[in-house]
Amino acid sequence: MALIVQKYGGSSVGNLERIANVARRVARTYDEGNKVVVVVSAMAGETDRLIDTAKAIRDTPNEREMDVLVSTGEQVSMALLAITLDSMGYRAKSYCGWQIPIVTTDAYCAARIEDVRREKIAADLDEGRIVIVAGFQGIDCHGNITTLGRGGSDTSAVAVAAALKADRCEIYTDVDGIYTTDPNITNKARKLKKVAFEEMLEMASVGAKVLYIRAVELGMTQGVPIMVLSSFSDTEGTLVTQEDENMEKELVTAVTCSTKEAKITLSGVPDRPGVASRIFVPLAEANIVVDMIIQNASADGIADISFTIPSADLSKALKILEDAKDFLEVKEITGANDIAKVSIIGAGMRSHAGVAAKMFTTLADERINIEMISTSEIKISCVIKKKYAELAVRALHENFDLDMKT
Ligand code: ADP
Ligand code: ASP
Ligand code: MG
Repeated sequence: MALIVQKYGGSSVGNLERIANVARRVARTYDEGNKVVVVVSAMAGETDRLIDTAKAIRDTPNEREMDVLVSTGEQVSMALLAITLDSMGYRAKSYCGWQIPIVTTDAYCAARIEDVRREKIAADLDEGRIVIVAGFQGIDCHGNITTLGRGGSDTSAVAVAAALKADRCEIYTDVDGIYTTDPNITNKARKLKKVAFEEMLEMASVGAKVLYIRAVELGMTQGVPIMVLSSFSDTEGTLVTQEDENMEKELVTAVTCSTKEAKITLSGVPDRPGVASRIFVPLAEANIVVDMIIQNASADGIADISFTIPSADLSKALKILEDAKDFLEVKEITGANDIAKVSIIGAGMRSHAGVAAKMFTTLADERINIEMISTSEIKISCVIKKKYAELAVRALHENFDLDMKT
């Protein structure tokens, strides 16, 4: 008997027919003699709908209440799955994050899981029940409902699997594994059999939303291998696990693209000690994750600073900076949403020269201008205009020999 945690994403529970499909898969796993814990996302589109509803009231809704609101999406799908399993003759019980409890930090909309109490789940499993847990949500130490950030149900699943010392953590989604690039961008993408945590971490950090970055981080630190599979077929998925000798160390393993970033430029910033800290401390306090930062050479003691943030945080960040404009002594603040970040990732990059040059040449050949560049040991990212994102991905995928051979 194995203990298996299965997570089903929004598209997998998008309507009653799909919930019935999930119920059949869960039942099959249970009938094979396993203990099963299911983590569910909200039905496809529901989280967006809830966010839009609140934003129709005001652009920057109160974050505590946003978490109360958006956490309802998962509560609906977990109950519908439990009702479906019950109608099929299985004993299932669903729990919201606060009922388990899944204890998190108090950072609304971006909380981090601190603890998953295993007692209730373990007791139900021992009594032969299928346990369903709402993904994406938890409770902070003051008793407030929190959520983990968009895509956070993956993290819930890995955290539950770690707490229960599960044998497997399976993430079911609308693609049948992790590909060399988003298979919705090019049909030449190839499915990978195994991906190292480190590579997946970089891929997730730059737009491969197939797995949420914190889920990968948790899997890596807690030693939980993660299998990504389709809920619509029975084909073999992709295993995300520790790097081993047998893994192909491709120069470039994957190309990713993120169109959910925005760029803020501060013009006329005084070039003296302490200025960068004044700008970035309030953004950090508001839990805004700043990614790439560039400062141009100063002329007459005045410089420009540009940086990228998640586009969902653009209005919030602009408001914080505008409010502090005089204190910061900044001349002008502008925000741009029409950017994308394309990246190439590969463990083999560590030991090869010329990878960046090849990336820049590929983009140049397509006449795509690079606005910002950042690198890590196994990743290179370029910010470009959003309208060129897919073209850039296809060109890089082809030039780094990732296209499926026909
Ligand atoms: P879920 O709702 O199940 O959590 P997501 O939409 O969050 O699903 O993630 C699945 C999507 O991730 C796929 O439909 C695909 O478009 C996208 N994706 C991006 N990069 C990749 C990649 N390298 N391999 C597979 N899917 C990817
Ligand atoms: N429902 C949440 C979202 O859409 C969490 C998730 O699906 O993982 O972001
Ligand atoms: Mg997801």
